[in-house]
Amino acid sequence: MSDAQPVSIVRGADWVVCAERGVGVPEGIFGAVCQSCGVESPLFDDDSLPVAVWVLHHTAGEPEHTRFLFREEKHWRVVRRPEVGEGGGGGGRASPVAGFLDRAAGPAFVGLMCLLTALSGLLPALTTNHP
Ligand SMILES: [Zn+2]
Repeated sequence: MSDAQPVSIVRGADWVVCAERGVGVPEGIFGAVCQSCGVESPLFDDDSLPVAVWVLHHTAGEPEHTRFLFREEKHWRVVRRPEVGEGGGGGGRASPVAGFLDRAAGPAFVGLMCLLTALSGLLPALTTNHP
């Protein structure tokens, strides 16, 4: 009945993963977890130095606690390819996507390309398991 069915999220070609670079979104969120007692440091935006200070302070108080799991988290965003369900017509594939991402992500486009490169490395690993 409804000719506008929701786009399946399984169809990865319709979606693009990019780094979220909106206003107020940190480039990275840093923290650490002590591997001896599990205590977690506070989280710090865009600066790993306070985490290092926290680690040193923790070890100063607990000299046997010398191993930490350092974490860096980033915001990601999945955006729909602009050509899906918008306008249509006979445009090229790469140009509208690049233009949309350039407007949406701006300088993060280089990071996006790195991310896509990393994700494309997963594809051969998945296909080699196929008998
Ligand atoms: Zn500890």
